Amino acid sequence: MECRLAVALLALGGVARGHDGSGQPTIKTPDRKKAVVDCRVYNSMRFGNCDPDTQQCKYWDRRVSFERDAQGNWLIIETSSTVACGNETWQCKTGGCMAGWKPEAKDVWYTMASPTLNKDELTVCTRHAPDMRNHQLTAQNLSFILNKPHDVTFAERPKPSIQDPHDVLVAVNYTGICGSDVHYWVHGAIGHFVVREPMVLGHESAGTVVETGAAVTHLRPGDRVAIEPGHGCRRCTECRAGRYNLCEHMVFAATPPHDGTLTGLWVSPADFCYRLPEGVSLQEGALVEPLAVGVHIVKQADVRPGQSVVVMGAGPVGLLCAAVARAYGASKVVSVDIVPSKLEFARGFAATHTYLSRRVSPEDNAAAIREHAGLPRGADVVIDASGAEPSIQTSLHVVRVGGTYVQGGMGKSDINFPIMAMCLKEVTAKGSFRYGPGDYELAVDLIASGRVDVKKLVSGVVPFERAEEAFNKVKEGEVIKMLIAGPNEKS
Ligand SMILES: [Zn+2]
Ligand SMILES: [Zn+2]
Repeated sequence: MECRLAVALLALGGVARGHDGSGQPTIKTPDRKKAVVDCRVYNSMRFGNCDPDTQQCKYWDRRVSFERDAQGNWLIIETSSTVACGNETWQCKTGGCMAGWKPEAKDVWYTMASPTLNKDELTVCTRHAPDMRNHQLTAQNLSFILNKPHDVTFAERPKPSIQDPHDVLVAVNYTGICGSDVHYWVHGAIGHFVVREPMVLGHESAGTVVETGAAVTHLRPGDRVAIEPGHGCRRCTECRAGRYNLCEHMVFAATPPHDGTLTGLWVSPADFCYRLPEGVSLQEGALVEPLAVGVHIVKQADVRPGQSVVVMGAGPVGLLCAAVARAYGASKVVSVDIVPSKLEFARGFAATHTYLSRRVSPEDNAAAIREHAGLPRGADVVIDASGAEPSIQTSLHVVRVGGTYVQGGMGKSDINFPIMAMCLKEVTAKGSFRYGPGDYELAVDLIASGRVDVKKLVSGVVPFERAEEAFNKVKEGEVIKMLIAGPNEKS
C-alpha cells in the first residue's frame, strides 16, 4: 500500500519531500513513467493513482490547501484524504493514511517541483474518475442576471466558497427554465417577491461536485448531482416538523433576494444535493426539480392503486403529476388542457385519457370529463396544475363525493371558488408548495427506474450565451422544457 501511494505522489511530477523523523526532508526522484495527466480541478483534487501494474487502487481523494514556502515553491498541504484499494476504504486526516507516516497537523509532506507553479493551473491526474474528465472546470463563475423586467446581462460573479463544513461546491451543467423564471423575467416579481437588486435567475439545475466541506461524507468531487435549490432554517417549527418547504426563513434560488443557479459555481448544503445514479444523465438531473414538484403534489393527493386522477393542465408539472400518479398505481389518469397539441403529447407521455376544455360552464366541462373518461361518480383525485380559475372551478365539479382535490398550479391570488360543491361533497382540499423530505429522492428513483421518462419533456438545449432564447421560447409556449447548458458544461 505504502509504495502505491508513493507512486501516486510522484505521479504529480514533483519532487517528493517527506520528513523522516529527524526533521530533515528526504528527497526522492519522481518516477515520470507512472504519470497520467488528463484532468484538473482546484483545491479539492482527485488524484489518479493506480499502480499501473496491479490496477488495484480505485481512487484517492485528497483535500489540500496551498502555501508558498520561502523559496517561492507552492506547497501542497494535505488536510484529509480517502483512499480506496480493492474493497477497502480508508478515511484519513492530515495525511495520516501513509503507513509508517506520522504527520503533524498541517505538515507539509511534499513540494511541487516548479517554483512558478500557479495553483490555478495546477494539473493533477486521474485514472479512475471518468466523470471529472468530462467536466473540466473553468475558473469562471459566469452568471445570467436579471436587472429589471426584460433586462438581462451576463456577468462574472465572485466564485462562491464553502462556508460550512456540510456544504458542497457544485459546477452547474444544466438548468431548466420554468414558468416562474419567465414570470420574474417578464414582470420582475411574483406576488410579494419583488426583484429589487440584480438577481441571478434559474433554479432547476444539475451539476458536478467540485469540492466538499470537511464534514461531507456521502459526496465526493466528480459526483453528478441534482440540486434541490432551497433549504429551510432547520430550527423553526415547520422545519422540525418535517415541512421545511413551509419554513419562513427558506433560502430559495432565484427567489428575491436570493440568487439562482444560472451560474458557474453553486454552493449548497450537501444534503440538498442528490447523487445521480449511473444511468441518469445530467440533463435528466435538471428535470428532477419539476418532477419533485409533481411527486409532492401526488403525495399530498394520497393517490392509491386503482384510483382515478384528473389533472387540470398539461404543462410540465401537469404532465409530471400524471406520470407520478401512474407510477403510484392510478388506473385512470385524465389530462385536461385548452391546447390540443399539449393533450396529444400527454397521451404519449402518461395520460390514459385526455379532454380538451371547451368554452362552456365548469359544470358542463366537468360533466363531459366524467362521461368521456367513464367516471360517472367523478374522479377520486383531482389535481389542478394550471392555476386557472375555470380549471379550479371544474376541479370541484369533477371530483367525486368524498374525493380529494389538490391545488398545485399558481395563478391569480384570489378567485371565485365553488365552495358549496366542496362542502356538500365533503371534498378534502389541499395545497401543495414546492417539495419536502423524500421528494427529490423519489423523483431521482422514478427516473432511474424508468417509470418516468423525463427526457421526453426536453424540447431543446441552448448554450449558456443564448440563455435568453430559452426564456423566450418558454414564454411563447411552443415548448415543454428548455434546458440551458453551462457555463461549466463542455458538451
Ligand atoms: Zn421551476
Ligand atoms: Zn425553518
